[in-house]
Amino acid sequence: MAQTNLSPPFDFIREMIEEHLRTNRFQGRVMTRFPPEPNGYLHIGHAKSVCLNFGIAAQYGGTCNLRMDDTDPSGENQEYVDSIIQDVKWLGFEWKDRLFYASDYYEQLYQYAVQLIKKGKAYVCSLNAAEIRDYRGSLTEPGRESPYRNRSVEENLNLFERMRAGEFKEGSHVLRAKIDMASPNITMRDPIMYRIRYEPHYRTANQWCIYPMYDFAHCLSDSIERITHSICTLEFENNRPLYDWFLDELNVEYHPQQIEFARLNLGYTVLSKRRLIELVEDKCVRGWDDPRMPTLAGMRRRGYPPDAIRNFCERISVAKNDSLIDVALLEHCLRENLNEKAQRVMAVLHPLRLVIDNYPEGQTEEWDSPYHPQNPEMGSRKVPFSRTLYIEQEDFLENPPKKFYRLAPGREVRLRYGYFIKCVNVIKDPKTGQVAELHCTYDPETRSGFAPNGRKVDATIHWVSADHSIPAEVRLYDRLFRVANPLEGKSDFKEYLNEKSLETIRSCRVEPSLAHASPGSQFQFERVGYFCVDPDSSDKVLVFNRILTLRDSWSKASGKEKI
Ligand code: ATP
Ligand code: MG
Repeated sequence: MAQTNLSPPFDFIREMIEEHLRTNRFQGRVMTRFPPEPNGYLHIGHAKSVCLNFGIAAQYGGTCNLRMDDTDPSGENQEYVDSIIQDVKWLGFEWKDRLFYASDYYEQLYQYAVQLIKKGKAYVCSLNAAEIRDYRGSLTEPGRESPYRNRSVEENLNLFERMRAGEFKEGSHVLRAKIDMASPNITMRDPIMYRIRYEPHYRTANQWCIYPMYDFAHCLSDSIERITHSICTLEFENNRPLYDWFLDELNVEYHPQQIEFARLNLGYTVLSKRRLIELVEDKCVRGWDDPRMPTLAGMRRRGYPPDAIRNFCERISVAKNDSLIDVALLEHCLRENLNEKAQRVMAVLHPLRLVIDNYPEGQTEEWDSPYHPQNPEMGSRKVPFSRTLYIEQEDFLENPPKKFYRLAPGREVRLRYGYFIKCVNVIKDPKTGQVAELHCTYDPETRSGFAPNGRKVDATIHWVSADHSIPAEVRLYDRLFRVANPLEGKSDFKEYLNEKSLETIRSCRVEPSLAHASPGSQFQFERVGYFCVDPDSSDKVLVFNRILTLRDSWSKASGKEKI
C-alpha cells in the first residue's frame, strides 16, 4: 500500500472512526469505498478522496472498495472506467478483487424499492417534472402533497412493474419515497427514487429503462458492500437524513455511517467533470491528458510523481469547511519530491553557438558527472566536451547591466563541471544584427572548476557540446486560467482561459545521455527547471514537458543575481 513519509494523519474523520472502534460500533471493522461515477476522468479533487478512503482503510487494517457509481446511463462509458482504474492504480492504491459496479445491483435495488412500496413508503407519482418542482415548495415554504401520494400499494406495485416493463413514456411517472412534504430539509420532501430513461447503459445495455437516483442507489450500494464509513463531500450533508431513512425503513443488516468533508478547490483551475469535459470537447486543450489539465492523466503526462500528489493530499488534510488551496502548496510538494529524486542533466532551451578557439579541433573529453551532487548513490554519466558548444542565449549580454554576472565580452565564467572560459569575440548576423556566435578561450588549468592561482569567477553556466547534443522540443506550461477562481464573474468560465498557457520551443539541445530516456521519466535541467519526457517523443526528436520551474538552483546560490 502506498505510503508517504509523514506521520499518520489525524482529523475529525479518523477521530470518529477511532471512536467507533472503541465502542465496537462496526465490530471492529473499517471498510471504505471510493465511488466515482464513470462519466469523466479523475482529477486532483478525486485524488483527495482516493487518498482519504484508501489511506484510512490501510491505517486501520481495513479494506477499501473501488466502486463505479454507474446509475445514470447518460455520459457513462467504458473509456472512463478504464481511465479510473488506471489512475487509482497509478496513485499507488490497490483493491484486489474488490472492484464493484452499482449497475450490478440494479435487480437488488429494484427489489428494495418494491419492499418500500409494500411498506407504504414509496409511491408512483404521475406529476411531470415542472409540477414536481412546483409542489416541492422552497426553503421558506413547505411543499404540497402530490395528488398521487395516496395510491394503493397494489396500484403502485402494478405501475412500478409496468414502468420497468417499458409501458410508459419518459417523464410520465416516477417512483418517490413517501416521507414528509413539510420537512424543513427539502431533500426529505418525497424525493424521487426511480425515473424512466430509454437510454442504453454502457454495461446493462437495454435491459433497464428505469434507473435509480443517486440517493437511493448510493446508500444501498454501501450497505450491500458492508461499508462501515461512507465518506463523501460536504454538499451531501443535507442528504444524510435521507441516506439513513432508506436504510432504516428497509431495516438492512449493514448501516454505514455517512461522513462529509470539504471538497478540494484549487486556484487557477476548475475541478468539475462537467467543466473539464467542456474544455476537452471544445478543444481548449489537447485532451483529458493534456499536461495543463488538473486530471490525474494530465498530471501524469506532465510528470507529477504520484507520491508527490499523495503527499499533497495528506498535507491539505480534511476539514469541514470549504477553502481554496493555493497551487503553490502543490508545487511545493512537487519540488520537494523532484529535488530529491530527479537526475540532474544539462539542456539548452535557446541555443547560442560558442566556439573555444584555443581548444583543439576534433578533440573530445568525457567528463564523469554526478546525476545528483548531493546524492552520490544516484550515480553519474559521461558528459562530452568539445570545441563547439551551445549555451543559453540569455547567459550572454553584450552590454551587461550592473548585476549581470554571466558571460559578456572580456568576461570569464565557469562551465558547469569544468573549465573557465573567457569571451574574446562576438559574431553577429549581418542582416539582423543579432548575436550569432561567441568565441572564447579556455584555461586548461581549470578543469577541476577552480583556478590554481585562486582566481574567481562570478557565475557558472550550463552548456552542451554542439556535435554530441541531441535535438529536443520543450513545452512550457503556465496556468490554464488567468484568474484564481474562473467560475466567479463571467458567465462562461472559458473566457478566463490563459492564452499563453502553452509555449513550445522546438530548437532545444539536450545532452546525449538523454537519448534513451523513456516517456514519463523526470529530470532536472540544471538551472532551468524540472522536465518529463512526453510520449510524443520519437527517434528524431525528444519532447519534454516542463513540470515546473526551479526555485533554488546552484547558479543563484551565491545570491548575487536574479535570473
Ligand atoms: P465532479 O464535481 O468533478 O463532477 P463528482 O463529485 O460528481 O465530481 P464523482 O465521480 O461522483 O464526481 O466523485 C467520486 C468521489 O470523489 C466522491 O466521493 C466525491 O465526493 C469525491 N470528489 C469529487 N470531487 C472532489 C473534490 N474536488 N474534492 C474531494 N473529493 C471529491
Ligand atoms: Mg457525482
